[in-house]
Amino acid sequence: MYGSRTAGVQTERAMAKIAMKFGGTSVGDLDRIRHVAGLVAKEVSRGHQVAVVVSAMAGETNKLVGWTREISPLHDAREYDVVVAAGEQITAGLLAVALGAIGVSARSWLGWQIPIRTSAMHGSARIEGIDAALLNERLGQGQVAVIAGFQGIAPDHRISTLGRGGSDTSAVAVAAAIEADRCDIYTDVDGVYTTDPRIVPKARRLEKVAFEEMLEMASLGAKVLQTRSVEIAMLYRVPVRVLSTFDPDAGGTLLCDEEDIVEKKPVTGIAYSRDEAKISLMKIPDRPGIAAAIFGPLADAGVNVDMIVQNVSEDGRRTDLTFTCTRSELARALDALEKAGPAIGYREITSDANVAKVSIIGIGMRAHPGVAQTMFRTLSEKGINIKVISTSEIKVSVLISEEYVELAVRALHSAYELDAA
Ligand code: ADP
Ligand code: ASP
Ligand code: MG
Repeated sequence: MYGSRTAGVQTERAMAKIAMKFGGTSVGDLDRIRHVAGLVAKEVSRGHQVAVVVSAMAGETNKLVGWTREISPLHDAREYDVVVAAGEQITAGLLAVALGAIGVSARSWLGWQIPIRTSAMHGSARIEGIDAALLNERLGQGQVAVIAGFQGIAPDHRISTLGRGGSDTSAVAVAAAIEADRCDIYTDVDGVYTTDPRIVPKARRLEKVAFEEMLEMASLGAKVLQTRSVEIAMLYRVPVRVLSTFDPDAGGTLLCDEEDIVEKKPVTGIAYSRDEAKISLMKIPDRPGIAAAIFGPLADAGVNVDMIVQNVSEDGRRTDLTFTCTRSELARALDALEKAGPAIGYREITSDANVAKVSIIGIGMRAHPGVAQTMFRTLSEKGINIKVISTSEIKVSVLISEEYVELAVRALHSAYELDAA
């Protein structure tokens, strides 16, 4: 589908092919679009071929999503995509105009015009392939390609979107398809930090972050990169940097292989997600097949179950089971479980949408024992109750009350000695 290469820090080729991506805040008004045009022009003046991927102007996608939901909460996902993809079309056109105005040859491209082919899952489609022929032809002629991020064309020939934050994925996939020498993700922070700098002022910028860690950070809530963009970067060896649009020389963060990280602290970063809900099924029969009876109907209803705990049954006959899903899937999950109620045989079902997940992530965790214990002790010292725990080789996640998220993230950031001096 895409090209492949060896990742790593490159000495820049004299005439390189580069992909640049600008997020919503970076193109938030006309002055900012002009500023972005200046950054693109600079790369062009260095002799590079440039493909630019843009997001909708800040706030636009939220507005479009809101309108669609307001007209009908049960809207058709194909029409949702038609509406919400519109924001990127405007930015792509405006940036092409802004480039033209400063004498840079540029043309805008919508997903279907390239085409960027996606799966049929409207609203959260996956990129399946990008035909780079047209893009490469124009790039070869010295024309900048300004591509609308977040969108593609589904097998039903209708516009599709890639899920919130999807322009990152468009950018990395385009970079892979045109075999770009690098993909620069310009945003409103100057790199990937140890945690969200908006809630922890002492967060530190990471010079480098391993693909595996970035993948966990993104999927556990750090919205600086969409998870799928990191997967594609890892798979197709795309050298990705995260940089600030407003201070492009500030250093940034490079995604790299694990071997390229010399100092492996036990914890590299902390992520949090408020998009969580918890469901508990009380007094379910403790028998083989019960998990299948619960999670089968949930999977059929398209609910992604995340953390799961099952209590030990006191009498060997009945037990309780708790799991989490996203808040937007809560209603669907409850509906599916109520329908499957007779087959499952629970006594009571409870749910809580005021929960959040806090996670510590680090490849160094493999070599350092006792990492989780520091997390549990730190939270207990702050009087924060842990509702559910889940772990993998390089992360530990806990579910807590939403009201304690910021307190928990700050306390853990200090406990793992991540605070900036
Ligand atoms: P864009 O519109 O450029 O795609 P996003 O808002 O999607 O930007 O992502 C950038 C934001 O991600 C930052 O403003 C920051 O608040 C948030 N963020 C969360 N976790 C991190 C992190 N670990 N490092 C950097 N930024 C983070
Ligand atoms: N505009 C889309 C969103 O807000 C895509 C993106 O910004 O990456 O989710
Ligand atoms: Mg984003």
